[in-house]
Amino acid sequence: MTLRINRHHLAALALAANLLCAGTGLAIAEQTRPPGQGDKTIALLKTLITFDTSNAPGDTRALAEYLKSQFEPLGAEVDIIVAPNGKAAHFIARLRGDGSKKPVLLAAHADVVPVERGKWTEEPFAGVEKDGFVYGRGAMDFKGGLAVFSRAVMRLAEEKVPLARDVIFLAEADEEQGQFNTSWLAKNHWDKIDAEFALNEGGYVLQGRDGTVRQINVTTAEKLSVTFALKATGRSGHSSRPFPPGEMANDRLIAALAKLAAYDPGIKIVPASRAFFSALLPISPPQTASDIKLLLGAKSQVELETAGRKLVSNNPNDGLLLHALLRDTMVVTMIEAGIKPNVIPGDAKAVVNTRLLPGTTTDQMIAEIRRVIEDPDIEVSIVTSMSQKEAKDYYLMRTSVPASPVNTVLYDALERSAKRLWTDAVLVPTMFEAGTDATAWRERNVPVYGIYPYPLDDDILSRMHGNDERIGVEAVKQGTEWIYRTLLEVAKK
Ligand SMILES: [Zn+2]
Repeated sequence: MTLRINRHHLAALALAANLLCAGTGLAIAEQTRPPGQGDKTIALLKTLITFDTSNAPGDTRALAEYLKSQFEPLGAEVDIIVAPNGKAAHFIARLRGDGSKKPVLLAAHADVVPVERGKWTEEPFAGVEKDGFVYGRGAMDFKGGLAVFSRAVMRLAEEKVPLARDVIFLAEADEEQGQFNTSWLAKNHWDKIDAEFALNEGGYVLQGRDGTVRQINVTTAEKLSVTFALKATGRSGHSSRPFPPGEMANDRLIAALAKLAAYDPGIKIVPASRAFFSALLPISPPQTASDIKLLLGAKSQVELETAGRKLVSNNPNDGLLLHALLRDTMVVTMIEAGIKPNVIPGDAKAVVNTRLLPGTTTDQMIAEIRRVIEDPDIEVSIVTSMSQKEAKDYYLMRTSVPASPVNTVLYDALERSAKRLWTDAVLVPTMFEAGTDATAWRERNVPVYGIYPYPLDDDILSRMHGNDERIGVEAVKQGTEWIYRTLLEVAKK
C-alpha cells in the first residue's frame, strides 16, 4: 500500500478473531513435510534478517546479491535491477516453464521499517531464534514472507518439477515508502514481472486461541487515498480592527471545517465489500451474521445506515475498521493559516485526506465536500504534483481498477492447499482499508492476492512495525508448505 504503514491495521485481526466461532479443531491435517524442509526456510529467514534493509535508505543491494547466490545454482534466471538512487535493488528469479501457460508471480518486499533499537530485548538484525520464534525486524513484515516465497520457489527448482508456466519470484525494494517501488519497476521493466496472477502481502492467516486456523483473509481490493486542499480567502489587515464575520479567511475556513468535522459520509456497499461480508457470513457468530444479513439485504439508504450502525455497535473492537470498510472516509489532517498574532491573514488552508471505495471518483468527493461546507467561495482541489485534470484522470483510472477476481486457478489452489494444512480454514476475499503495492499489477488487470503466508495471532500483529517483532517457527514451516503446494497445483506440468 502506498501509505505502507497504515496498511497494517490490527483491527483486521480483531474483527476476524471476533468473528471466529469457538471450536476444537486441530490445526494440521497432514504432516507430509519432508524432514529439514522447514528448517531451510527458517535458516534463510534468519540470514535475510541479518541484512539491515531499513528504509530509509532501503538499501537492498546486498540482500539481492545473496538471493542471487541462492537461486542461480538452482538454474533460475536471475536479475538485479538497481534504481537510479543506487540503493533500491529489485531481485527477480525466474524458473522457466514450457510456455503453455502465463507466469505466476510471487512478490515480497525486502526492505523493512527502521527500529527503535533501545526498545528491543533481542538484537533486531541478528535473526535470533528463541522459544519457538524467530526475532528480528521484518520477521513478520515481510522477510518471513520473503523466506517462505523464496523457499517454495527454490524447492520447485531443487526437485526439478516440470513447469507449464514460468514461476517468477520478486524481492521488492522501496515498499516501505520509497519512490523506486513496484510502480517504478512496473513502469520500467514490466516484461520482467508480467504474469497471469500474483501473490503479495496483505491478509492474515488468523490463528485462534486454541491454535486452529479457521479464517484466511486474502486481500483482493483496496481503498484509494486521495488528499484534497481547501483554501479560504478573505480581507487581510490589522487584528485590532476585525472585519465583519464571514469576511475573513480564517473564520470561513473554521466554519467549513466545523461542518466537515461533524460529517460522516453515507454507507455504500460496493462489489468488493459485498464479497467480503458475504464470505464472513457463514463463519460469523449468530448476532454478527444477522447484522450482516440486514446490511446485504438493505433496500434503501435508511435501511443501509441502520444495518451498518448495528453491525458497528455490536462489534465495538472492530468499530474503526468496519466504519472504514462501509463508506468513503474523510478526515481533516492538516490546517495552515496565519503568519503573525496581530495580522489577519488573507488566506487559510486545510488538508482533507479521503479514502475512497472502489468506484468513487474525485469529482464525487469534491461535490460532497462542497455540499457539506456550503461555501462556494472556498476552493477545493486535489493535492497533487500533476495538473488537476491529470490527477482527476489518474484517480479515475485507479478507482476503476476492479477487485481481483477469485475465480482463478491460483485462488482455488490457495484454498485447496490451505484446507489440506488447516482443515477448518475458509478463505475470505478482503478489501483493504488502506493501500498496497499490488496496484502495479491490478491496474494492468493482473489479479493479485495478498497474504501474510503464516498463521498468526494478535501478539504477532502487535509487534509488526514495533519492537521485538517475531514470527513462529512452526508457522513459517506451515506457510512454506502451503505456498509450495499451491505452486505445484498452479504451475506443475
Ligand atoms: Zn509489509
